[in-house]
This record gives sequence, C-alpha cells and structure tokens, in this order.
Amino acid sequence: MAWFSAPREARTTLDCPECGKPLDIRRTCHEAYMQCSSCRKSFKLAPFIPRMDKVMEEFLERLYADRV
Ligand SMILES: [Zn+2]
Repeated sequence: MAWFSAPREARTTLDCPECGKPLDIRRTCHEAYMQCSSCRKSFKLAPFIPRMDKVMEEFLERLYADRV
C-alpha cells in the first residue's frame, strides 16, 4: 500500500495566525489541515492555499498521488 510511503506531517514556513510560530501540515485519513507547532491550534487548509510553500505543495502532491 502506497499510503504509508508519504509522511503524515511536515513543517511549513507559514506562520500561525494565533501566535506566529511555524505551522505543520498534517493529515488524517480524509483530509489535510494545518496545526501550529507551538499552540497546537489547528486550522483549515483552504485559507493557507494562496500562501502555499514548497513543503505544503510536495506534501499535498504526495497525499493526492497516494489516492490514485
Ligand atoms: Zn500558534
């Protein structure tokens, strides 16, 4: 199963809207979301898409590639 070849989380260069610390991109079985590495708040992915960095891009590419 290719599912296990992709990481479940990655550190991005985006800032937490609450505290300004780096956000991680994480995933569940169903979806990806952002979570702060410091305050642990989680955020929907959509508002961050326009500011997507390379880490997010590659994470999502792998996520969707796994589903094929
Ligand atoms: Zn935070």
